[in-house]
Amino acid sequence: MSNGNTALAEKYRNNFLQEVIANVEEGEWVRMCMQCGVCAGSCPLGNAWAHTPQEIFMMIRAGKREEVLTSDSMWMCTSCYNCIVRCPRKLPITHIMHGLAHYAERMGLAPKNQPTRKFALEFWKNLTKTGRVNETSLGVKLYFIDGFVSGIKKGLAALPLGLRMFKTKRLDPMAMISSSGCKGKGDIHKILAKAKAIEDAKFQSKNA
Ligand code: SF4
Ligand code: SF4
Repeated sequence: MSNGNTALAEKYRNNFLQEVIANVEEGEWVRMCMQCGVCAGSCPLGNAWAHTPQEIFMMIRAGKREEVLTSDSMWMCTSCYNCIVRCPRKLPITHIMHGLAHYAERMGLAPKNQPTRKFALEFWKNLTKTGRVNETSLGVKLYFIDGFVSGIKKGLAALPLGLRMFKTKRLDPMAMISSSGCKGKGDIHKILAKAKAIEDAKFQSKNA
């Protein structure tokens, strides 16, 4: 557990809902949930998750901090917005789910091997490096995301497809090293660093 997590767990002891309201994007909406279950029934993938949005909101109100923040459910949301358009209380469910995932990451409690979390981190790293996604290097990274041996096996299985793409000029291996990215990528890095500093300062002042 990170120190930040320990301090916040102590600060909001017995009131996880208040912690969510203070720190999670759109978290104040959780108290408006009337547990009707429409979001759970509308989520196309909800059956495959440990907890539907309805359950997550109930668990927040029941103070189940550890169970919520270590859950992989928030990481499974595909942002299809089915739940938002159907919620009778108009909760911004999608944003809350992503906000919870972000907060879990900040607290160091997000499940480390959850595949969409790993993809999100790789995608962000790839994008922010040059300001433009390098699809070739991102694709290769994803092949090796579960380790070297698994990456080699997946790469060999995909070799015929890769060769066909290469022959039809849909795949340029040189793009791995020669991608130039956006102009002024130094400025992009400065903007992102500034945005992070502002967000961290806001977070710290709220939780001082
Ligand atoms: S649809 Fe809205 S009110 Fe109903 S359980 Fe889901 S979040 Fe709560
Ligand atoms: S936006 Fe996310 S939580 Fe809502 S229905 Fe779609 S996948 Fe489910």
